[in-house]
Amino acid sequence: MLTFTLFVCATLVKISGAEPDKWAVVSEKCNGMFQSPINIVTRKSLLDERLSPLQFTGYQDTWHGVIKNTGHNVEVLPDLPVAAMIKGGNLPETYKAMQLHLHWGSEHTIDGERFPMEIHIVHVKEEYNSIPEALGDRTGVAVLAFFFQESETSNKKYDPIIEALEDIKHPKHDRTRYFRYQGSLTTPNCDEAIIWTVFENPIRLSKKQLAAFSQLQFANGMQMEEIYRPVQPLNGRKVYYSEGHVTSL
Ligand SMILES: [Zn+2]
Repeated sequence: MLTFTLFVCATLVKISGAEPDKWAVVSEKCNGMFQSPINIVTRKSLLDERLSPLQFTGYQDTWHGVIKNTGHNVEVLPDLPVAAMIKGGNLPETYKAMQLHLHWGSEHTIDGERFPMEIHIVHVKEEYNSIPEALGDRTGVAVLAFFFQESETSNKKYDPIIEALEDIKHPKHDRTRYFRYQGSLTTPNCDEAIIWTVFENPIRLSKKQLAAFSQLQFANGMQMEEIYRPVQPLNGRKVYYSEGHVTSL
């Protein structure tokens, strides 16, 4: 699975064409109480002062080595070098980046709003060597989610993903404002082992760049559209927001 498009394709193949509401047939975990994604209702989210800005280490160098936009698709090597790390933000430990992928049509929604795209950067605790290994630990995996939004002005550069990842580690992107909740993988087996960090500030891409993503095709020629799981019930879970969220308003 050398290319991003193949990765997504493989995910779809794995669920054998089953609709998300049938996933419980694939794995009972998909019927669990702490599933993702969710709709984040901002007025119901709770301030958590422990949610300090995340610290990013090695983000700058890592992505250039592993992501290549060939003009037709975006290649992501299966194993990232263990160079990109996150800590802080009330995460229990340091986590290392293992994988990233995109959803066309955001998975999380904010007050019911769906963004055109959402990127997930999947991290595991340093002690683990793979995502499956980390899924045995309820806080084994930390996923950072960034939304993409269409912008008239920004991001003239050709490589939208690299540009976007540049934005993430760049101070100009406000990464102090985020939501936090405990959830699951959004594809089977839907393991409930994920600390979700959903950043409020979308990454801005031009209409042309977003359109370029929509032109991506799976290996079977299917267009890349609507690769997201519907939002799941909160079942009593609380969603917290970071202090930066408030002080920046
Ligand atoms: Zn995802």
